[in-house]
Amino acid sequence: MNQVILEVNELSKEYKGKNESVKAVSDVSFTLRKGETFSLVGESGCGKTTLGRCIVRGIESTSGHIYYQKSEDEKIDFLSLKRKTLKEVRQDIQMIFQDPYSSLNPRMTVFDIISEPLRVTKKMKKAEIEERVKEIALKTGLNVSYLKRYPHSFSGGQRQRIGIARALITNPKVVVCDEAVSALDVSIQAQIINLLKDLQDEFGMTYLFISHDLSVVEHISDRVAVMYLGRIIEVAKTEELFTNPLHPYTEALLSAVPVANPDVKMQRKILKGEVPNPANRPTGCHFHTRCEYRTKRCMQESPDLVEVSEGHYSACHYAKELSLKGVVSH
Ligand code: SF4
Repeated sequence: MNQVILEVNELSKEYKGKNESVKAVSDVSFTLRKGETFSLVGESGCGKTTLGRCIVRGIESTSGHIYYQKSEDEKIDFLSLKRKTLKEVRQDIQMIFQDPYSSLNPRMTVFDIISEPLRVTKKMKKAEIEERVKEIALKTGLNVSYLKRYPHSFSGGQRQRIGIARALITNPKVVVCDEAVSALDVSIQAQIINLLKDLQDEFGMTYLFISHDLSVVEHISDRVAVMYLGRIIEVAKTEELFTNPLHPYTEALLSAVPVANPDVKMQRKILKGEVPNPANRPTGCHFHTRCEYRTKRCMQESPDLVEVSEGHYSACHYAKELSLKGVVSH
């Protein structure tokens, strides 16, 4: 799992308004390794969904690079691709959307929805497309008889299976799952997560899993990155991040995760104040307005994301000194 498949390099997305500009994503760098599940977590508005959309080129980034390792000797500068080549390469990098109610076109049959990504490249014959759609429908737990129906006749869980089938129809190598289970009931969430895991085991895809729900993230991820105000402020392997956080923001997020063991009492850290306006970020460390450990230095100097221990990165001046609380393993 050490082979890098996608490299995100100093990626930024800025929205310019009349009087102010907002950097929704700010100089973000990370790598995705082949076959892993890498999660992006953070409160709403932290930039994780914008980042996911930049990665599939649903929206265009303002600066930075994304390199896609298509094969051992073919590395593609994904953001520089022009329309025709982009269409083809995009087959390898797909997205599953959050809301299975609004992401499926209500006027299209399930067959047309699932087959659309194949039809745009016009490379397959009709019979081949039919065969492939049936195959992926069965893999994602959809009855073939559903294919003639319209999305409104399905439950949330079934609609999300349709969304997954559509994303996987092109045999992608990287799948961005944007809050893919957030809109579903808890019991259905577990079914969809298990489906995603089974499909990953079978096809070896890499997932970029975007979620605000740390319980789900703990269950599904190999590594986790925490975002705050458009930046990554901590990255580590899942167990390491959950048991030994090295950033006060991560500690506060973890203290809100429900613990299954009734003998373990977590002291919940209530984050003070709202997330600051991204158009007017605090000086120094952007988290200093809400951080209980801040010093004068934090208000003046912006901390870089540095490797504190092997594979564990933190953007806090005091990552080595602070003794932060994680969650006890469940
Ligand atoms: Fe808190 Fe300072 Fe660390 Fe920022 S740099 S997280 S303000 S202790």
